[in-house]
Amino acid sequence: SGMWVKAMEILKEFEEKCGTPIPRLRQVADAMIVEMHAGLASEGGSKLKMLISYVDNLPTGDEKGLFYALDLGGTNFRVIRVQLGGKRKGIVNQQFEEVSIPPSLMTGTSDALFDYIAAALAKFIAQEGPEFKLNPGRQRELGFTFSFPVMQSSIASGTLLKWTKGFSIDDAVHQDVVAELSKALERQGLDMRIAALVNDTVGTLAGGRHHNNNVVAAVILGTGSNAAYVERVHAIPKWHGLLPKSGEMVINMEWGNFRSSHLPLTEYDHELDAESLNPGEQIYEKVISGMYLGEIVRRVLCRMAEEAAFFGDTVPPKLKKPFVLGTPVMSAMHRDTSPDLKMVASNLKDVLEISNTSLKMRKVIVELCNIVATRGARLSAAGVLGILKKMGRDTIKDREKQKTVIAMDGGLYEHYSEYRNCLENTLNELLGEEVAQTITIEHSNDGSGIGAALLAASHSQYL
Ligand code: ADP
Ligand code: MG
Repeated sequence: SGMWVKAMEILKEFEEKCGTPIPRLRQVADAMIVEMHAGLASEGGSKLKMLISYVDNLPTGDEKGLFYALDLGGTNFRVIRVQLGGKRKGIVNQQFEEVSIPPSLMTGTSDALFDYIAAALAKFIAQEGPEFKLNPGRQRELGFTFSFPVMQSSIASGTLLKWTKGFSIDDAVHQDVVAELSKALERQGLDMRIAALVNDTVGTLAGGRHHNNNVVAAVILGTGSNAAYVERVHAIPKWHGLLPKSGEMVINMEWGNFRSSHLPLTEYDHELDAESLNPGEQIYEKVISGMYLGEIVRRVLCRMAEEAAFFGDTVPPKLKKPFVLGTPVMSAMHRDTSPDLKMVASNLKDVLEISNTSLKMRKVIVELCNIVATRGARLSAAGVLGILKKMGRDTIKDREKQKTVIAMDGGLYEHYSEYRNCLENTLNELLGEEVAQTITIEHSNDGSGIGAALLAASHSQYL
């Protein structure tokens, strides 16, 4: 019928525009490297901010004592306590609590947000068991994982450059987030020092290194996406500080803001961007990360409903609502291998209030999820290749077999297995078999919080 011809036309055109053949992925990786150089050369030199983290030493395993972390960066935040045993004993004890952030606080005032998280932290500390021991007479110390772009001026200070991922709190922009949190802690009557301010990528890198000495980079694929890696200070022209003893500095790339003419973008991406809270920004993030994948699928389905009457004569009203189709629902439909695709059917019914779909229609929807996830996963693999190339770890240098580990975390990476597998397979394909054997991706389960606590320990006032 005419409906099918038109619907298939929309799908095929979308699929073509989402194409990510290997040569194109190499162009994306090379464009990423060009921007990395530009961002390291001067402040504001690139869309890639390449932020200096002030972390010039990663955890060694000698860290000792009770430390806290607070991880804020998406839909949830976590409070964590970690008892570190010192030399080789590692993490003796840890506890965490996850609290969701009411959506109203994501677009309210700075004080309201920080009071909310400080209150949760106060409650967490009030419930501390005797197995956690603070050295007598000492102030509690905290690592603050804050996963938004921050221009740091030291390990424990920095101003917020902009919000991403659906947050928009005007009066917090350009403020020192450590000062804001400190004031909120005081208002709660909590005596606590913020010893380190870290991006989640930097925390994941630190947590990953603690676990495995070969970790040199970290990638987050969650609500948003970002990466950090260890750079040689000599390769950072914009660094005018002292040369650290290690000769190294962790760089928070803020890779979500990458964009390039080599990225395969469609009209749906342009519309999503134009209608977003941050038009023109975070373009790479908007094609690879969890906040947006389901929304891209929804937009294509909406077009098929409008122009090909894919769901009948009227467009299902729910389908018109931005962000109703979350990436978890998309991944549940994508992984449906039942013969009649009953997960697809039940999700369409429950989430979009669309019933009476034929098997043929449901197959189209699975295919659509596959197109969107595949493009995202392959483009994120290209980004990883860019980092490896920048570090000179995309070739085999010595026969000693230098091992490279990339710590990865985030709900998208963790829960969307089709995406994860595609990312890993694509990276192996890009690297070639011999090099691929020297590179591993390690899932760092909540490494960012533990990493922040470890960095608080290595920047303690009592050292
Ligand atoms: P954040 O990035 O907010 O710190 P997470 O790392 O937990 O938090 O990532 C949450 C994101 O992961 C969600 O916004 C969602 O996009 C994605 N996600 C969570 N569960 C799934 C799932 N089952 N399938 C696909 N994506 C998921
Ligand atoms: Mg997170």
